[in-house]
Amino acid sequence: MSAGLAAAPTALTHVDSRDIATGEVMATYAAMDADAVADVVRRARSATAVWGRLGFDQRRMRLEAWATDLVDHSEELVTLIHRESGKPEADAYLELVIAVEHIRWAARNAKRVLRSRRIRPTVLMANYAGVIDREPFGVVGVISPWNYPLFAPVAPIASALAAGNAVVLKPSEHTTGVGAELVAAFARANADLPGQLLALATGSAAAGAGLIAAPVDKLAFTGSPRTGRLILEACAKTLTPTVMECGGKDALIVAPDADVEQAADGAAWGGFSNAGQTCVGVERIYVHRDVAEAFIAALKRRLSRVQIGTDVGSTYGPMMLARQGETMRAQVQAAIQGGAGAPLGGAERVHGQFGEPILLVDADESSQAVQEETFGPMVTVRTVSSVEEAIRLANGTPFGLGAAVYSRREGRRIASALRCGMVSINSVIAFVSIPALPFGGVGESGFGRIHGDEGLRTFSRTKSVSTKLYDIPAMNGMLLFRPRITLWALKKMTNLRFGRTGRR
Ligand code: NAD
Repeated sequence: MSAGLAAAPTALTHVDSRDIATGEVMATYAAMDADAVADVVRRARSATAVWGRLGFDQRRMRLEAWATDLVDHSEELVTLIHRESGKPEADAYLELVIAVEHIRWAARNAKRVLRSRRIRPTVLMANYAGVIDREPFGVVGVISPWNYPLFAPVAPIASALAAGNAVVLKPSEHTTGVGAELVAAFARANADLPGQLLALATGSAAAGAGLIAAPVDKLAFTGSPRTGRLILEACAKTLTPTVMECGGKDALIVAPDADVEQAADGAAWGGFSNAGQTCVGVERIYVHRDVAEAFIAALKRRLSRVQIGTDVGSTYGPMMLARQGETMRAQVQAAIQGGAGAPLGGAERVHGQFGEPILLVDADESSQAVQEETFGPMVTVRTVSSVEEAIRLANGTPFGLGAAVYSRREGRRIASALRCGMVSINSVIAFVSIPALPFGGVGESGFGRIHGDEGLRTFSRTKSVSTKLYDIPAMNGMLLFRPRITLWALKKMTNLRFGRTGRR
């Protein structure tokens, strides 16, 4: 284990793909300015006609070919994810598996969800047919974070492509290599298609801003609430529609009838895998007093086996950025000063970007450790005297992304009382791996949904079409010079359908 990791690149002319453990530069990419990004968007736009003409069935085949290519190159890809992000190779492989499941699901369900649909008009318009068409936006911009460098961009990209859009991906400047490989895999698998159908815009904030200024026709953002606000401000200028996947402070509730050992497994995985850098990771735990002692002991047992590092066999790696370690230290120090217990460690357990697991017990609910995203290997645990208290506290932050509940009998009831977008019952984070389940948050966690039917609809817009089938002259009120009988007939019909006399 080493605390001295490579500093993040700051140059504006290029972004490096680095091995987080050694600092070795593996590849260098341009830090694109607004003009360069606008050019990428223009070329992506020119590819939309070909993609649109292919139709759902052909697009399905092309997307599945992409998934196949990713799996065929999984060894290189997993190594790259591991080297850029520091996460264990096994976790990187799991990320790949979930990513290709999502690609296949979007590919196979787009036709069912997005094909034109006939609707029945009401009596007033009985001589009309109604059809709801769904059309792609055109070019979708995807701005993604570094914590799941493959999966985070794949989900919106797969849905957007399946819906018939071209896509420009702006990956995180900290994991550009994985983003580039994702795009290269699509081109390799579909060499006969225009290369810019799924295109890459590399760089940092300026490249992301360039994507919005281009402008793209829809923007899918995944990242912090702070950046989300800046992006919304920029999108307001062009009224560009957005889907915002921001941060979380997810709670896990352990009810008195929970399987405590399973809950401890879930808390350990949800709170500490990927060094706690999971938007839907567990950051707060509310445990009923009847099982609190057993649960905390079981969680401590698991965390005592953690090995931190980037070697084979490590449980998790470093945090991506030095500032996360500083945030974690500050949160721990303030919480302990405010009276929190620390059955596992204090601020001294944070060594630069590496953090040993930290458990804070009964931290003040208004402290930063409870209210703000930590994004590091730390969870707070509070003992509560009722499930109702757990629900109230779980709902007590501005975030509302995911949540988890362990209970043998009350899972559904507790889940329905939580203010968030997704809940796992008797597991953690499971909803992510079920591509048919929509994903997204409330409050500071963002709005709109990716994944599932709703995620496909997110990347298409509705066009309503009404077709007159035949004339009913007496009923046509939409005439500048209508016959007198029309108003009489309309009144009669409206009274019959809505009025008191009609109902008698
Ligand atoms: P970030 O907000 O710093 O950056 C996200 C992306 O936005 C990067 O590609 C970055 O270059 C770009 N960006 C930054 N400033 C920009 C600007 N002004 N205009 C346009 N683009 C800009 O987030 P991060 O540090 O990369 O990722 C961590 C955050 O992401 C955490 O808050 C985490 O919870 C969140 N996250 C959310 C989800 C989700 O699905 N809700 C998933 C993963 C991560």
